[in-house]
Amino acid sequence: MTDYRRLRVALLGAGAVGSQVASLLLRHGDELADRAGARLELAGIAVRDVDAPRDVDLPRELFTTDAETLITGADIVIELMGGIEPARSHILLGLGSGADVVTANKALLATRGPEIFDAASRVGASVYYEAAAAGAIPIIRPLRDSLAGDRVVRIMGIVNGTTNYILDRMDGEGADFADVLADAQRLGYAEADPTADVEGYDAAQKAAILASLAFHTAVPLEAVHREGITTITADMIEEAREAGFVIKLLAVCERLGNGGDESISVRVYPALVPRDHPLGAVHGANNAVFVEAEAAGSLMFYGAGAGGVQTASAVLGDVVSAARRHIAGGTGVGESTRANLPVVSIGHVLTRYQITLEVADEAGVLATIAGLLSDGDVSVATLVQTVIPAEDGADGETARLIIGTHRATDDALSAAVDRLAASDVVERVVSVLRVEGE
Ligand code: NAP
Repeated sequence: MTDYRRLRVALLGAGAVGSQVASLLLRHGDELADRAGARLELAGIAVRDVDAPRDVDLPRELFTTDAETLITGADIVIELMGGIEPARSHILLGLGSGADVVTANKALLATRGPEIFDAASRVGASVYYEAAAAGAIPIIRPLRDSLAGDRVVRIMGIVNGTTNYILDRMDGEGADFADVLADAQRLGYAEADPTADVEGYDAAQKAAILASLAFHTAVPLEAVHREGITTITADMIEEAREAGFVIKLLAVCERLGNGGDESISVRVYPALVPRDHPLGAVHGANNAVFVEAEAAGSLMFYGAGAGGVQTASAVLGDVVSAARRHIAGGTGVGESTRANLPVVSIGHVLTRYQITLEVADEAGVLATIAGLLSDGDVSVATLVQTVIPAEDGADGETARLIIGTHRATDDALSAAVDRLAASDVVERVVSVLRVEGE
């Protein structure tokens, strides 16, 4: 057996992910040593309650509530506690005392990333965070390393498994949002408080992390436009299906303009995706990230976006990278913010809308609607009209119009929808969705 140098690893947290990381570190020590060029010695595991039951059997003597002492003696700190504090202070303490850091903490990186990365670069250490976006799927390393010589143009990601599970079941079963959510909570796919998932907060954190990395720009979480999926109905899913689309909650990170006039857009919303797009085939709680780069073209990364042992795989990959760097010495490669591109607001983004209306089925209505759209420089690309027969005794018939617009700014499109909603000929704006991935 090779006599490797020993590196002391401090693990902070032994929950869903941390307990699996500890188990893999202990079980796969020899393989990890050969990969890393160092023996990774689990020095201790900091938790709140050393006697709490764990998902896997772990030696009792490794547990401690004294995180600070554990951190200051470590070569590598793995932060898997989650939340902002004390995770932030512990990471800063680790970096300050010469450790490299591995974390899966998207909430922390999306809100305090620049502070953490600055602290790392001041001491020449590195922060690894493959598990912070899309769980087990390798996407951080491809963006940071494999595509380093290319220019990313667009990222479209299904980065939240809970919402994909809900939308996929609505699509497959014609079920309502509330019913599927309740079932997802019962089955453990959704939290008792599902807000972070269904309102798009979790996806927005991951979008900020991916966009920061892809575009060499520190993207603050507040700059990410966010909409959730709570307004999606079974009817909207059915209409999408009939038109050849599927509704997905997307994180879109996009480079706009060119030359010296570049900016970026980072947004999360439910969108219509063509059913034959690779993202249209992402089912259940899986995640996928579709990357378009200038030279490489289209790339798709697909797999488990969460889960204790799946996420632990990504964490351990980072631990091996951290160990190699620690052994090699020298300065760690920091996060690049060299481009520092402005993040434009959603209003300036060019998209296509699909608008579903109920209107009186009368002569001249179509012309009025086309006029209301073109008043704001929005033009109609496709139009499907179906007549809804009047109920017994009701006056006149209603027509359902599904209007696909050409690309226009989001400001122009939403103003056009407001004009339609206020018009006498429109009985009801049934739904408005953006189209992505065409
Ligand atoms: P979790 O199950 O809630 O576990 C958190 C662990 O941290 C627990 O062991 C807890 O100790 C410990 N902890 C929390 N606050 C602490 C404190 N103040 N002092 C000491 N220990 C503390 O969390 P998780 O699901 O493993 O997630 C960990 C991180 O991975 C989060 O940042 C999460 O966003 C990220 N992540 C998770 C997944 C996933 O599928 N779960 C996927 C991707 C990324 P006790 O056990 O003693 O309470």
